[in-house]
Order: sequence, then C-alpha cells, then structure tokens
Amino acid sequence: TPHTIAIDGPAASGKSTLGKLLADHFGYIYFDTGVLYRALTYVALEQAVDLANAAALAKLAQTTNFDVLAPSIADGRQYTVLANGNDITWPLRAANVERNVSQVAAHPAVREALRDTQRQIGKAGHVVMAGRDIGAVIMPDAQLKIYLDASVEERAQRRAQELNARGRAISYNEVLADLTRRDAIDAANTFLAADAITISTDGRSPEDVFQAIVNLMGV
Ligand code: C5P
Repeated sequence: TPHTIAIDGPAASGKSTLGKLLADHFGYIYFDTGVLYRALTYVALEQAVDLANAAALAKLAQTTNFDVLAPSIADGRQYTVLANGNDITWPLRAANVERNVSQVAAHPAVREALRDTQRQIGKAGHVVMAGRDIGAVIMPDAQLKIYLDASVEERAQRRAQELNARGRAISYNEVLADLTRRDAIDAANTFLAADAITISTDGRSPEDVFQAIVNLMGV
C-alpha cells in the first residue's frame, strides 16, 4: 500500500475526482495544490499586487496564511480554503482567478515560495496530492504516481458542464479557449515523471479510472 500518491495532469483531466476516490479508499487526505496557486492569485488580485512582479507575489505567498480544512459548509465543496481566516473556497473558482492563475504560477519565485508547504504535507504521508509537478518536483519519492490526460475538447466539455451546474453562464467555446491558453502557459511546469503511470481519461468516468488503478495495484 502506498503512503503517498501523486496525481498530475492538465486542468479538468479528472485529478480531483480521482484523487478524492483514492483518498477515501486508502483513508488518506486529499490535497489539491492548484488551490494554493489560486488562493495566492485571489489575494494578489484583491490587494492589487502586480501579477508580473514575482518578488511581490512571493512575499505575499510567505506572508499570507493559507489553510485548507475539512468542508465547513455542505454546499458541494470538497474542502474549505481560508486566506488569513477568510473563506475563499468559491471565489477561487471565479473567472478572474481562472484568467490569471497561470501567469502567477509561472514565476519560479512563486513556485519556490509554495514548495515547502507542499513538501511538508507530502512528508506527513497518507496523502493524495494533485497538481502539475507533484511526482517530478514536490514528491519525487511518492510510491504511486499517476499522470492523467485527456483531449482538450473533452476537458472543456467537462469543465463547461461543471461550471454551468454551479450557475456560471459560460459557453463550451469560452472554456475551450481558456483551457487552451492555460495549458500553453502551464506546460513549462507540467511534468510527466519517469515512473508515473499515464492514463487517458477520454471517454472514461472517474470511477472507471479509479477501478482500473485499484485493479492494477491489487489494493
Ligand atoms: O489544478 P487547477 O486547475 O486548479 O490549477 C490552477 C492553476 O494553478 C493551473 O492552471 C496552474 O497554473 C497552477 N498550478 C501549478 N502547479 C500545480 C498546480 C496548479 O502551476 N502543482
């Protein structure tokens, strides 16, 4: 049985649903590292920090207190995210964050500022951690590494459905354009670890992918 599981892959590839299923299966915590980049972006926008200023963003990352906790309200959230005590769980999913997060995450100084937090969570073990560089950079010793992929069209379809279900009026084409743009910026920090299992989730449900992994591992 693994003690740490890394799940990497592009936006809307199915990381969080699979991550949650695996975490429940093993009794681990699920940690979505995208939340940290989103939270920093949200706070930076709120404080009007220049998103091109890497040093200012890194400082903001070090001085803001981010907490990811068990859900405090049963409103469909997987967890509650606090920034300096304020609940920013849903604002993290808003359009202005989605538009700017990749630019923020592209700064090496920002990634470095958020690295220790992620590594500490990894060191504690019994965790499923999802992101872009988890298997290669954050938890290179993870016992199980999964790289999820899916076509950008399928990912856009899923994300559009998810956002519409949450009441955000956004078209498939807008989501497709946003994912394509984000993929291009994120590519520089998205890694397929040499020892990762790659799974294409095109046309497959998260439950189906979960079952395949469990069968493969015999756990
Ligand atoms: O996974 P999610 O779409 O929530 O991540 C939001 C953004 O955070 C990504 O588009 C990417 O720019 C950044 N990110 C990252 N490295 C990670 C996780 C997320 O650069 N490990």
